[in-house]
Amino acid sequence: MRVGIIGGGIGGLAAAYELGKRGHEAMVFEAAPQLGGLAGTFEVAGTRLEKFYKHIFVSDTDIIEYIHDLGLADRLQWIASSVGYFSRGKVYNFVTPLDLLRFDPISLPDRIRLGVVSLYLQRQADGIARYEGVTAAEWLRRYAGERNYAVVWEPLLRGKFGDSAPEVGMTWFWGKMRLRFGSRDKGMGRERLGYLLDSFGQIQDALVERVTRQGSRVFTGVRVRRVVVTGGRAAGLEVDHAGDRAGAPPAPSRYPCDAVIATVPSPVFLRLAPDLPTAYTERLQGRRYQAVMCLILVLKHPLTPIYWLNIGDTAIPFVAVIEQTNLIPPEHYQGKHIVYLSNYLAPDQPLYGMDADHLLEVYLPHLQKINPAFRREWIESYALFQDDAGQPIITTHYSHKIPDLRTPVPGLYLANTTQIYPEDRGQNYSIRLARRVVAMCEEDWAAASPVGLAARGQE
Ligand SMILES: Cc1cc2nc3c(=O)[nH]c(=O)nc-3n(C[C@H](O)[C@H](O)[C@H](O)COP(=O)(O)OP(=O)(O)OC[C@H]3O[C@@H](n4cnc5c(N)ncnc54)[C@H](O)[C@@H]3O)c2cc1C
Repeated sequence: MRVGIIGGGIGGLAAAYELGKRGHEAMVFEAAPQLGGLAGTFEVAGTRLEKFYKHIFVSDTDIIEYIHDLGLADRLQWIASSVGYFSRGKVYNFVTPLDLLRFDPISLPDRIRLGVVSLYLQRQADGIARYEGVTAAEWLRRYAGERNYAVVWEPLLRGKFGDSAPEVGMTWFWGKMRLRFGSRDKGMGRERLGYLLDSFGQIQDALVERVTRQGSRVFTGVRVRRVVVTGGRAAGLEVDHAGDRAGAPPAPSRYPCDAVIATVPSPVFLRLAPDLPTAYTERLQGRRYQAVMCLILVLKHPLTPIYWLNIGDTAIPFVAVIEQTNLIPPEHYQGKHIVYLSNYLAPDQPLYGMDADHLLEVYLPHLQKINPAFRREWIESYALFQDDAGQPIITTHYSHKIPDLRTPVPGLYLANTTQIYPEDRGQNYSIRLARRVVAMCEEDWAAASPVGLAARGQE
């Protein structure tokens, strides 16, 4: 079977690898000049770094398996992380349960209630059945209390989902709590996070090497224009070949294949596959995303002592400060301190269109609120990365709204971040999705094609 894959992020590359393992051929088409998508990297401070901060959790078994399989286990570090919360002009540690007791923006009874509710959620195993019908806002208000909701959770939900925050399903929230507490030693101890020294980009490099050895091909700078459907089946891909590479050799613009796996965001997929029936396209249109922007600062001095600082102050125009060098020491980055200022917003918001220089001007006054000693002169360089499809908005009853991996067009499959549930999107789940979609694709092919049937008969 020859399969065309749209998108060279971790999902597309993993799908190619899984196909190769099963003896099939893949052709991966990535529109950008570089592979990686949301897990892409860039060069900074003598090494590579993710454009959008990255770590993994102890429960991320699929990616951990890949790391071992690809010979990268010696690069994987498990590090005790530090989490904090910025509220009312102060940075609060949230590393141990005792820190919660010191969180004075809420009363002592509220702190205890917050701790009990967090522990309760972490212990629930069946979050889909329990929480699908209720929004996070409704549930948290009722059980964690109005004050806890207003001070702690609402700013975070608003920061991540903007005006869509009131619609976010409780199942999404439960999944997040379970994941983060699950990565803590013995449930409530310190959180341990995994990082691949010199970046997760090495997984992509190793996958390309394996995939190429398996006889498949990976193209960058090749944008898929359309999924070709012949006789009602996906039969190939039409591409804009190396449109932006001057002097590139002429190449075919149509690639025939037996099946197509798209890993692109749903709005892109809708443009590429116009032959889909309305019932399916309505599902795709119904899935919305928050855009993401990360401004990365390379500093002479640390901004905070914390790796992951949630911002619980709606006057600050970013939602989290993630200080990479409080997870991986600055020595690994030529002694520099690396900070992500992370923001999620609706793509039509004015901030989203801003370039790095202007955005920095907007953010600068707020950095001093977090660390009054901070000076502009600390900044050695900065870079901005953004993406329209940073975070799918997970609403109530989401399990009934997920578009099927198997589209109604035979031979055409979709595997993107909107189909990850109840967990939040992550590299681990893109790999897991790739494994599922490849198994499905092979099963259908074996059922439909005489060659496939013969191959199956020989097993
Ligand atoms: C801010 C942020 C923080 C995150 N933190 C973590 C974390 O800590 N840990 C973790 O594991 N994960 C994290 N993630 C999630 C992780 O990055 C994603 O889940 C994963 O990278 C998605 O991979 P994908 O291949 O499914 O999609 P994508 O990476 O979106 O890949 C899709 C690819 O398709 C390409 N494409 C689009 N249109 C076309 C076209 N017409 N033709 C060809 N190619 C096309 C795009 O350029 C892109 O490369 C984070 C994501 C964000 C945004």
